[in-house]
Amino acid sequence: MKLENKNILVVGLGVTGVATARFLINRGASVTVTDQKKEQETGSEEPLIRNPGIRMELGPHRIETFERADLIVVSPGVSHTILPIRRAKEQGIPVIGEIELASRFITEPIVAVTGTNGKTTTTTLLGKMLEDSGLKVFVGGNIGNPLIAYVDGEEKAEIVVIEVSSFQLDTIDTFRANVAVLLNITEDHMDRYPDLDAYTKSKTRIFKNQQYNDTAVLNGSDPVVRSLSRDILSRKVFFSSKEEKGVAISDESIISQENMSQLLADFKLPGKHNMENAAAASLAALAAGGTFEGVRTALRKFKGLPHRLEYIDTLKGIDFFDDSKATNVDSVAKALETFERPVVLIMGGRNKGSKFHTLRDLIDRHTKELIVIGEAKEDIKAELGDIKPVETATSMEDAVFKAYNAAKPGDIVLLSPACASFDMYNSYAQRGEDFCRAVAKQKIDDKTTA
Ligand code: ADP
Repeated sequence: MKLENKNILVVGLGVTGVATARFLINRGASVTVTDQKKEQETGSEEPLIRNPGIRMELGPHRIETFERADLIVVSPGVSHTILPIRRAKEQGIPVIGEIELASRFITEPIVAVTGTNGKTTTTTLLGKMLEDSGLKVFVGGNIGNPLIAYVDGEEKAEIVVIEVSSFQLDTIDTFRANVAVLLNITEDHMDRYPDLDAYTKSKTRIFKNQQYNDTAVLNGSDPVVRSLSRDILSRKVFFSSKEEKGVAISDESIISQENMSQLLADFKLPGKHNMENAAAASLAALAAGGTFEGVRTALRKFKGLPHRLEYIDTLKGIDFFDDSKATNVDSVAKALETFERPVVLIMGGRNKGSKFHTLRDLIDRHTKELIVIGEAKEDIKAELGDIKPVETATSMEDAVFKAYNAAKPGDIVLLSPACASFDMYNSYAQRGEDFCRAVAKQKIDDKTTA
């Protein structure tokens, strides 16, 4: 792909947009970066803004800029359906995402992971399995380490493992994953997609361009995933979680059922959903050239990631768990299913168009009280408030205090919000840290009142 002297517009000035602009400049392109945020709202991107080689257009988008470009590269945070992009497409201007751009410069095999939930956990674990198999691996994509930065960097890997979101899949064209994993599809991002069908179509694009000798790793327990698998050209391997501990696999060409069970016996993270993640990662790693021993070592060592059903502390016999990354209803469902003891559940934040009422049965069976916070508190109360007692909290500290008082020794206090964090925080991580801080404060208060 020739980029030299091309007039290229990068839309979105986040981590990915910055990395994309750098890459393009290094390849001799003439680069404009546009973002609707105003100059005073920019942060770490500032050195880029001062780069004399780059034209910066902040504030409202200008359609002329889009129509003048030879190529438009969209960041994952930007919808490819906004008006200026639609206009440019009508003019025949190619519009691609950063993953597409990067993949055109990658010759190493690519393993890609998508799904509504479990992407980061599975991608991280998969990367470790391949590393423990002795391979040099790049792990990135939606995980926060843009693929384009890998292409631009000096260090080369033998294999590339990426997490890809539905937004990133919306803007691929020739991108081909040698191994593609689809973990699950449940309702999410209904603020950005018209319906579940449109969201499902985006996710399915991970298999676009796969050939007969590629591999698709699919969740056989997920009805949506099963229904779309007919159209996939590559070798299909299904994993299905069973009622009892364990996972069934549909095709033993990668690993025998017995060996898979043996591998998973060494995996310690809680919940059936984590068992699915582990099975998916194992199948993908083995299909991509990982060894049985490498996979086993990684499964044994893996302790999970922060803010995903993470155990924090025990105060007076009450266990506190931080699941701040649970930003949709299915991840909350999986958290509740994991616990057998009564849960006091802290929910709320910015509503992404979630159907909280789909949690009714699980809330009824697993919780003793709900504490609601943030913008969505009234929505949650309206959909779930008749099942169990609901208290409203004004801050995370207040929520933790109220949850602690509602819980008894042996109970669990769980932050699993089913919402985005942006009404109160910059990120889910900041929200999780605030929860941990509030738990730590409660511990100190207990000591001083003892
Ligand atoms: P993603 O990158 O897709 O957001 P994460 O691994 O960061 O996934 O996990 C996000 C949330 O989803 C956490 O609350 C986690 O406990 C939950 N989760 C992890 N794996 C699964 C799964 N396979 N199915 C449903 N929920 C899951």
